[in-house]
Amino acid sequence: MSIFNRIVAREIPADIVFESDTLIAFRDIAPQAPVHLLVVPKRDDFANVSELAAGDPDLLAEIVATANALAKEYADGDFRLVFNSGAGAGQTVFHVHAHVLAGGLAEGTLA
Ligand code: 5GP
Repeated sequence: MSIFNRIVAREIPADIVFESDTLIAFRDIAPQAPVHLLVVPKRDDFANVSELAAGDPDLLAEIVATANALAKEYADGDFRLVFNSGAGAGQTVFHVHAHVLAGGLAEGTLA
């Protein structure tokens, strides 16, 4: 079971900002931007965004729509969506998740 499954199950606490039948979203424990949310499918059988896109593209579209709604609710609506894919790219939790970064991001930077 991934650490994110444990958040879904309320076995470990998190600052949950959104939940549906298919997704959960909560604040990242180590924020990299003024607003840093994680949007996570409840199903845990996709390790990264490429697997998700191939296996359930509608669920990927739901993640994007949810990121958009949360950026409007918690920031000014503009956001950066990051999927780290693979350990070499900094992925540490192999249960696909989107980082939603928003609120006062520096212009023209990727990190
Ligand atoms: P990755 O490095 O896999 O793209 O992203 C994993 C993210 O999960 C990291 O940004 C990390 O700070 C966050 N994270 C890891 N453990 C926890 C936790 O227990 N609670 C919360 N809220 N975030 C976590």
